[in-house]
Amino acid sequence: MTFDVDAVRAQFPILREAGLDGRPLVYFDNAASSQKPLAVLDAIRAYYEHDHANVHRGVHVLSRRATEAYEAARTDVARFVGAASPDEIVFTRGTTEALNLVAYAWAAFLSPGDEILLTELEHHSNIVPWQLVARQTGARIRAVPIHDDGTLDLEAFEALLGPRTKVVAVTHVSNALGTVVDVAHIAERAHAHGAIVVVDGAQAAPHGAVDVAALGADFYALSGHKMYGPTGIGALWGRASLLEQMPPWQGGGEMIETVTFEESTWAPPPARFEAGTPNIAGAVGLGAAARWMLDLGPAAIAAHEASLLARATELVGAIAGVRLVGTAPHKAGVLSFVTDGLHPHDIGTLLDEQGIAVRTGHHCAQPVMRRMGVDATARASFAAYNTLAEVERFAAALQRTVTLFG
Ligand code: PLP
Repeated sequence: MTFDVDAVRAQFPILREAGLDGRPLVYFDNAASSQKPLAVLDAIRAYYEHDHANVHRGVHVLSRRATEAYEAARTDVARFVGAASPDEIVFTRGTTEALNLVAYAWAAFLSPGDEILLTELEHHSNIVPWQLVARQTGARIRAVPIHDDGTLDLEAFEALLGPRTKVVAVTHVSNALGTVVDVAHIAERAHAHGAIVVVDGAQAAPHGAVDVAALGADFYALSGHKMYGPTGIGALWGRASLLEQMPPWQGGGEMIETVTFEESTWAPPPARFEAGTPNIAGAVGLGAAARWMLDLGPAAIAAHEASLLARATELVGAIAGVRLVGTAPHKAGVLSFVTDGLHPHDIGTLLDEQGIAVRTGHHCAQPVMRRMGVDATARASFAAYNTLAEVERFAAALQRTVTLFG
């Protein structure tokens, strides 16, 4: 079956917006945040129009309906990541909050001298929470280096693993370079040393199927807004046996079983980790996004994006004065590049004038920028609704920009 990208595009009203040049906007900033299909917009609207009340607290009809909608979304997300049970899904504000949750809760099990192994590919969201927790516990951060093409140095990883390694926290897909990391291998080796494995899935979930069972990791974090869902919602998948051991990281309503002034006892997961009124409409939207992706077919989305990336790599790689940053053999829809003579911010502005939206900067991944010898890149990133014609328009605009201003 061929991938009908026009039928996909028709579901995204925002793609009819014009760019600065008056033509339809080419939106290549999907790694920062993707656009939303009608299925998601309609689900949020229908929820507020028909079902809204606070969840879990009321006996009345709307509270029951809101609770059902919220819990149905948990089931959708569980299905999307291949969780063993919806109880393994904790709703969070996004990947950042999911990673902070694991770090702060797991701090209870860390002691001075324990090691937290990160990689040079990480987004700041998978570095800074661990630094805060390391400071609090006396644990130590170590980082697995990468090769020049942006792949992880697995020999160095192996050498860094040891009896002190307690946590291995790794991205599934690098947001800055697009490198896909072999999480299953990492998890297998980390487990052999008794460490838990925490995966930042922010950039993997939008591009295809996630199967936490096959990956073999212990925690998997994702953001709704990067996978066609709304902002302000995300999820943490956690292995049930580990979630059950973990203390809460925030206190408040809904996460307790009993409260006295002397002490409180905790609700079982996932409620233990969802203090306060949750983002109910956001969860409904994320559930709709997960269903939308599953209906379209994660493998079909991945294959379509791979064809966009291959064409973009070929065209942009052939422009004199342009250098690709991140050339790993296995990449997901991200093309980072720099040019001779133009700062990435200027490239971004000049492309914007031609109706093309790309990201420029350090992409919240300063260590990887430093490793690649740049302080910033321009980054085009692709989604299911992008087309080969858009890739060609982008490459022509970049060629023009470099010829005129480079
Ligand atoms: N991790 C990666 C790899 C990302 O690309 C991002 C966002 O750019 C994040 C984490 C943080 O996601 P959020 O801001 O949705 O919490």
